[in-house]
Amino acid sequence: MSGHVLVVEDDHRLRNVLLRGLREEGFETTPAQDGAAALRLAVAGVDAVVLDIGLPDADGRDVCQALRANGFDRPVIFLTARHHLTDRLSGFSAGGDDYLAKPFHLAELAARLRAAVKRSPPASPVTGGEVVLDAVRHTCTVRGVPLSLTPTEFRILAALLAAAGDLVPRRDLVRAGWPEGAQVSDNTLDQYLTRLRRRLREAGSALTLGTSRGVGHRLS
Ligand code: CA
Repeated sequence: MSGHVLVVEDDHRLRNVLLRGLREEGFETTPAQDGAAALRLAVAGVDAVVLDIGLPDADGRDVCQALRANGFDRPVIFLTARHHLTDRLSGFSAGGDDYLAKPFHLAELAARLRAAVKRSPPASPVTGGEVVLDAVRHTCTVRGVPLSLTPTEFRILAALLAAAGDLVPRRDLVRAGWPEGAQVSDNTLDQYLTRLRRRLREAGSALTLGTSRGVGHRLS
């Protein structure tokens, strides 16, 4: 057995091709047709996720960020019909490990999955920290209590949580929070961070949003 793969793809024909092909390549498979199912099923302990970016209920990159923010540390390989380099880069900044553009050969996907699973450290239990994100509804709970966030706040928080206590450069926070090409001043980002810091504190979170001046921020 090569591992257990969660296949997240809304196109049912492609999903069935993936499921059948990966089984023939020796993988155990679980299907999911949208982001909500992906978030629910990934915690059940899979070895890797194949994640379509164009899902009906959420952007696959948001789903990946939420998985990472919620402690899921197994490889994620994005599938996308889009061929632009920017997509590729934002896929990686969302916490993906690899990327395949449709159409692709199943043997290549299987090979990349095997390599990613092998590279990846042994699964650690998904603990789900005190802050849990739902990428589909863009909702957040702190110690089980809902915290309502604007989409931009949600994306910035997801990027900070996905880094698991590491420093996140300010440009990555801007890239996470706003559409590509948006002009975001230092001041605007600071205002969002100040608000996030206050909202987490008010919600009773023990996490601290720290600043490395001029470099970036970390949530730890
Ligand atoms: Ca799709």
